[in-house]
Amino acid sequence: MNNLKVFGRIQVAKRSYSPLPVDPLLRFKAISQTQKAPRVLITGSLGQLGRGLNSVYKYMYGSECVVMSDIVRLPANATDVSDYNYLDILNQGSIEEIVVNKNIDTIVHFSALLSAVGETNVPLALQVNCRGVENILQVAAKHKLKVFIPSTIGAFGPTTPRENTPDLTVQCPTTIYGVSKVYAERLGEYFNHRFGVDFRSMRFPGIISATKPGGGTTDYAIQIFYDALQKGKHTCYLRPDTRLPMMYDTDCMASIIQLLSAESESLKRRTYNVTGFSFTPEEIADAIRRVMPGFEIDYDICPTRQAIADSWPKSLDDSEARKDWGWNPEYGLEETVQVMFALLRREEEKPTKIVSTA
Ligand code: NAD
Repeated sequence: MNNLKVFGRIQVAKRSYSPLPVDPLLRFKAISQTQKAPRVLITGSLGQLGRGLNSVYKYMYGSECVVMSDIVRLPANATDVSDYNYLDILNQGSIEEIVVNKNIDTIVHFSALLSAVGETNVPLALQVNCRGVENILQVAAKHKLKVFIPSTIGAFGPTTPRENTPDLTVQCPTTIYGVSKVYAERLGEYFNHRFGVDFRSMRFPGIISATKPGGGTTDYAIQIFYDALQKGKHTCYLRPDTRLPMMYDTDCMASIIQLLSAESESLKRRTYNVTGFSFTPEEIADAIRRVMPGFEIDYDICPTRQAIADSWPKSLDDSEARKDWGWNPEYGLEETVQVMFALLRREEEKPTKIVSTA
């Protein structure tokens, strides 16, 4: 009993937690010392990735460097957010107004409908994921901005080689999310060579963070931690052997900062694969059991999400990103499990929610 921490109703072995690294953000500090502070607009900034990136930028350059935007109201606990604006990315005039009024030089365009949500509302996915990207790129061309628009493993499809998928390969996705992300990749690269827009993109795997996910096929890999701590059990919507590539949040933030900081001449392409590690539901459940021995998992397969997962790569080849701009992830599965439990425990113990990366 001495060795157990009571977490909600669940007992978790105390010794199984590593402390968080002394300063997990140190690598960001190193970059900020060599680069001038940007003026960054983040769209869709209240989603899974936006607030983490805001915190990283603020840590690197102070609170003046980020302008956050989205179409939803700020949650009451958003004490980390300073300059927040309503911005519907379907309104090109409003994007331009913020860019001019706030003297923006870089846009990180996060607004999107993710894979599972996109399938439930195709017209809206087309609007947000395609018209939104067009608006962003046109404003970027007019005001000579640097633009980061994330792509995804969802931009591949069932005819893509699924093991160690390279940067250049067949891209015939079967979801509206994937189709719209291929469009974003192609349109961004077109604006780069036709109008000189400094467009940069990465195909992210599923991102694991201590924030609620936004309706993707890899969401289970976050929900499993909340369920582990609240119920000691998770019901997974994917088959136990479904292998997908994933990445921990801090590595995701690092990849964005690194790619945006890279010299243009070092980029041999405008869209890169990046990845952390791959696992199946069965394997992450085993990793959780090494921290929480009583953890249980069962399966209630969602045919839509399973079909999407079955059409995606199992692992990505990110050697080009490593070679061209020094991509080097730090978190594997074990580290991710440790840090997720540590963060969620901290969240439970504090009155306000921790949204940042670690
Ligand atoms: P999310 O769904 O959590 O957040 C998206 C945000 O976009 C939401 O806050 C939503 O309010 C906003 N939005 C929707 N319609 C909008 C509109 N008309 N105008 C302005 N904002 C609008 O997404 P996320 O997980 O933070 O993902 C961010 C980006 O990263 C997306 O482009 C996504 O495709 C990409 N990505 C994410 C993952 C992941 O695992 N989270 C993996 C691969 C790629």
